[in-house]
Amino acid sequence: MFDLASRDIKYLSGVGPQRASVLNKELNIYSLHDLLYYFPYKYVDRSRIYYIHEIDGTMPYIQLKGEILGFETIGEGRQRRLIAHFSDGTGIADLVWFQGIKFLVGKYKVHQEYIVFGKPSVFNGRINIAHPDIDNASELKLSTMGLQPYYNTTEKMKRSSLNSHAIEKMMSAVVQQLHEPLPETLSSAILTEHHLMPLTEALRNIHFPANPELLRKAQYRLKFEELFYVQLNILRYAKDRQRKYRGYVFETVGEIFNTFYAKNLPFELTGAQKRVLKEIRRDVGSGKQMNRLLQGDVGSGKTLVALMSMLIALDNGYQACMMAPTEILANQHFETIRELLYGMDIRVELLTGSVKGKKREAILIGLLTGDVRILIGTHAVIEDTVNFSSLGLVVIDEQHRFGVEQRESLNAKGSTAPHLLVMTATPIPRTAAMTWFGDLDISWLTELPGGRKPIRTFVVPEANGPLMAEMFGLIRKRIDAGERAYVVCPRIDADAEDADGALAASAASGSKTAGSSAAAFDDAYDLGEDDEQRAQRPPLHSVAEIVERLQSLPQFKGIRFATLTGRDDDTTKSQVMADFESGITPILVATTVIVVGVDVAKASCIVIFDADRYGLSQLHQLRGRVGRGGTDSGAFLISRAPADSDAARRLDVIQGTLDGAEIAQADLEFRGAGDVLGDAQSGGKSGLKLLRVVKDVKIIEHARVEATRLVAQDPDLLEHVQLAGAVLDFTRGNETFLTSN
Ligand code: ADP
Ligand code: MG
Repeated sequence: MFDLASRDIKYLSGVGPQRASVLNKELNIYSLHDLLYYFPYKYVDRSRIYYIHEIDGTMPYIQLKGEILGFETIGEGRQRRLIAHFSDGTGIADLVWFQGIKFLVGKYKVHQEYIVFGKPSVFNGRINIAHPDIDNASELKLSTMGLQPYYNTTEKMKRSSLNSHAIEKMMSAVVQQLHEPLPETLSSAILTEHHLMPLTEALRNIHFPANPELLRKAQYRLKFEELFYVQLNILRYAKDRQRKYRGYVFETVGEIFNTFYAKNLPFELTGAQKRVLKEIRRDVGSGKQMNRLLQGDVGSGKTLVALMSMLIALDNGYQACMMAPTEILANQHFETIRELLYGMDIRVELLTGSVKGKKREAILIGLLTGDVRILIGTHAVIEDTVNFSSLGLVVIDEQHRFGVEQRESLNAKGSTAPHLLVMTATPIPRTAAMTWFGDLDISWLTELPGGRKPIRTFVVPEANGPLMAEMFGLIRKRIDAGERAYVVCPRIDADAEDADGALAASAASGSKTAGSSAAAFDDAYDLGEDDEQRAQRPPLHSVAEIVERLQSLPQFKGIRFATLTGRDDDTTKSQVMADFESGITPILVATTVIVVGVDVAKASCIVIFDADRYGLSQLHQLRGRVGRGGTDSGAFLISRAPADSDAARRLDVIQGTLDGAEIAQADLEFRGAGDVLGDAQSGGKSGLKLLRVVKDVKIIEHARVEATRLVAQDPDLLEHVQLAGAVLDFTRGNETFLTSN
C-alpha cells in the first residue's frame, strides 16, 4: 500500500519542479493525493460525433469533426469578434470568439481536421458555437472510448502548458498507479448500506469513467463522503451550540392543542403535516433547542403546522411568535390564525412597523405580562424594544428573506433560546446551503392537501394577439363566475422598478447581491446576451401601464381593477386586499412582492407579464397563489422571449411540472453550479463543486443520518482513526468553507 499523500507531485513524469510550483501555487496541489482529488468540472462524451446538419439549437454540449474553411473578423471595439467558418461536409457552423483573436488565428489552421466541442445555438438560421474547445483530431486518443474529463485551469497554468489535456495526462499516470487499493475511509457497514463504490474505484471513475453509470456511482460515493465529513463537522458545531443554549422542554400536548384539534381544525391534516408535527413535538420535548427547517411546496399547508406548533408552546406556558417577510403576509397570517382560533380564548396580536403609538405600547405590555400569547409580525418583532415574558417558540415564514444574523438576535433574547422553526417554499441556494452551514434539521411537507386541482400553466407569447384575447376572454368568464384574477408586472410605473420584486429576483439568484434593482432583474440569470442585445430588449411592463391597457379591453368592460405595489402604505394594502377578496375589485394588478405568500381562495387565474424575466422558483411561487379553492386554475406566463432562447426553455420547465423541487433543480442548472455554492466552495479543491444542491438533498440526508449515528457512538472519532485523519484533511483544505458558518 503506498501513500499518495507523501508523494510529491514534482516527481510525477512530465511534471518537474517548474510545473510543480505552478500547481502548488495555482491549485494548492502538492502531492499525488492532492492531484487525485482535483476533479473534472465536466465530461465530454467522446463516443459520439454529431453532424452539423443534425443541429437544431436545443442540444447540450456536442462535438463535431471537420475543418475550418476560413476566418473572418467583424465588429469594432468590444464588439469585435473572430468567426471561423467550420464545415464537416454536412453544413457550416460559425465558431465565434470575443477574446484572444490574434492568438487563435495563429493557432488554428485552415483545412486541417479538428474536433470542435461546444454548445451550439441557432440564430437567424445560422449555427454558432461560442468559445468552443478545439483539439487536433489526431491527438485525441486518451479516452476515445468513454467520457473525457475536463479540468479547470488558470491563465498562469496555461502559460506553463498546463491545460486540461496536460492535467488529464498526469491524472492518467497517477490512476495507473492505483492497482493497489487505497485505504478505505468509510466503514464497510456504511459502504454496504448505501451501496457505495469503494474509494479507489471511485477515484478512478471520477477521472476516467467508462460510461455515465460508473461516473454517477463514483460521484455519488465521493459526494457522500464529503457530505459525511461536512455533517460530522456541523454536528460538532451543533453540539457546541447545545452546550451554550439549553432548550425549553414542552412536556405536554395539552388542552389548547387538543381543543383546537377537536373543535376548530377545519379539515383533516395531511399525512405529511402529521409526520412533521411529530418531528416537531419530538424536538421541543427533547430539552434541546429545536432548530428545524420546514420545507414544503407552495400550498402544502405550512401555516397550519406553524400554528399547531405554537399551540404546543402555549400549552406549556410559553408564548410563541411568527414572523413573515412582508406586512401583507403578516397581516394575512394574523387573519388566518385569528380565524382558526375563533372561539378559543387566546390573545393574538399583530405587530408590524405600522403599528404605532398606544396600540403598540399595549401590545408590548401584553407581551411582557404574558397576556399576549401569540405574536404575529414582521422584522419589527425582533427589534430591541420588543420583549417577551416567556418566548418559547419562534416561527419564521419564507426564510429566504431572513438572514442568519436575525436568527441569532432571536437567540440573544433570552438565556434559554426559544425553539426555532424556519419555513420556506423555495429550496434556493442559501436555504439549501444551510443544510451544510447551519445546524438546522430538515422536515419536508411532501404532500399537498387533497381536493386541490393542479394548476394548468400556459406560456402565452405576447405578440400572439388572438391568443392574448382568448386568455382575457377566459379570465372574464371566470370573474363572471365569481372568481378572482391576479395580474403581475415587474415594474410599478415607467420610472420605478418594483424594488421588492427585484429583491426577490436577486434572492433567486442566490449569491449575487441585490445591487441596483434594475440590474437585479436581469441578473437573476445570465441571459447570454451582449450589450447590444440588452439595449434592444423592450422595457419591462409596469402596473400603471398594464392597468390602463386592460381597462380599455372589451373583455373587461364594467370590471373594476385594483392595483397594489410596494409603494402603497399598509392601510391601503389591507383595504385593497379586502376589496379583492370580497370581489369589489376582482382583478388585482400588482407587483410581485404583494403576491408572494398571499392566500385568496377564490383566486383562480394569474397572469404574469414578462414571465421570461423572472427566476423559475419565483414563477412557481407566484403561480401557487391560485388553485387554493378547489376550482380549476390557470397560470398564464406572458413572454416576449424568442422561441429558441434559454428564457423560453425556462418557461417550458414551469409549464411542464408542478414539482417545486424539480423546478428549483432546473433553476440551479440554468444558473450553473458556480452560483450555487459561491466562490469559497467552488474555488476549493474539494468535490463539493460537483454538488447539485437540490438533486443531492437525499445524499445530504443519508450522510447526516450516518454522521449522527457515528457522533453518538464515538464523538471524538477515537475508534475511527482513518476517518478522523480524512476529516482533518478535508477540514484543512476547506477552512473557508467550514468557518463561514
Ligand atoms: P403554504 O405551505 O404555501 O404556506 P398555506 O399554509 O398557506 O400553504 O396553505 C394553503 C392552503 O391550504 C390554505 O388555504 C390552507 O387553509 C389549506 N390547507 C392547509 N392544510 C390543509 C389540509 N390538511 N387540508 C385542506 N386544506 C389545507
Ligand atoms: Mg405560506
